Amino acid sequence: MKHQRIAVMGGTFDPIHYGHLVTAEAVMYEFQTDQVLFIPSGQPPHKTQREVSPANHRYLMTLLATETNPRFFCSRIEIERTGYTYTVDTIRQLKKLYPQAEIYFITGADAFSEILTWKNPAELLNSCHLVAASRPGYSRTASAAMQQVLQEHQKTVHILEVPALSISSSDIRLRVMQGQPIKYLLPEIVENYIYKHGLYCRT
Ligand code: NAP
Repeated sequence: MKHQRIAVMGGTFDPIHYGHLVTAEAVMYEFQTDQVLFIPSGQPPHKTQREVSPANHRYLMTLLATETNPRFFCSRIEIERTGYTYTVDTIRQLKKLYPQAEIYFITGADAFSEILTWKNPAELLNSCHLVAASRPGYSRTASAAMQQVLQEHQKTVHILEVPALSISSSDIRLRVMQGQPIKYLLPEIVENYIYKHGLYCRT
């Protein structure tokens, strides 16, 4: 029997937008995964509380954005964990839940380029596939240590270019703050949620 493949989409999702959704669909197609599990981050270790909207808002926006795709799911495992949330702990938890599954952890190329500063990078790199999604033309010179990581893990580290990633959460937040339109950058149901709850109205 074919082993199950699960793509795990990790991110702050503040807010989730079409760039994230197109990335998830592209990974599901490219790596033939059975599903994509979106996991909004709880308390990211590299961000202060003030920088990020409350976890429940980010979770609900992610849930609303993914509900029409029967192969997209949304998980609360990180937002329910107390203290800082580390990806390696999430992958450990998922491997207990799905011992037979091959896991593809997706994140942005910028976030991935810092992986050597994350908790237990060696364990993380050895326990799942990692997909770094980048916008076209993205280039960042990898440090010598990062080049070694890419060399040693070339079978399990994948770089995927996604044109839709020219959309970014920080741009959407800025647009809301400045009263500019955000229509067509994210699902309408998420746009309505943002206005209804007055998110991103001030810095
Ligand atoms: P971030 O620093 O807010 O984002 C960096 C860049 O990556 C942004 O351009 C962002 O675009 C993009 N990005 C983030 N997630 C993406 C995704 N799933 N698909 C495509 N682009 C994405 O990154 P973050 O959201 O806080 O962290 C990303 C993931 O890495 C989370 O799951 C987080 O828990 C994990 N992480 C873990 C550790 C650790 O374990 N120590 C440390 C850092 C990050 P948008 O702003 O448009 O999303």
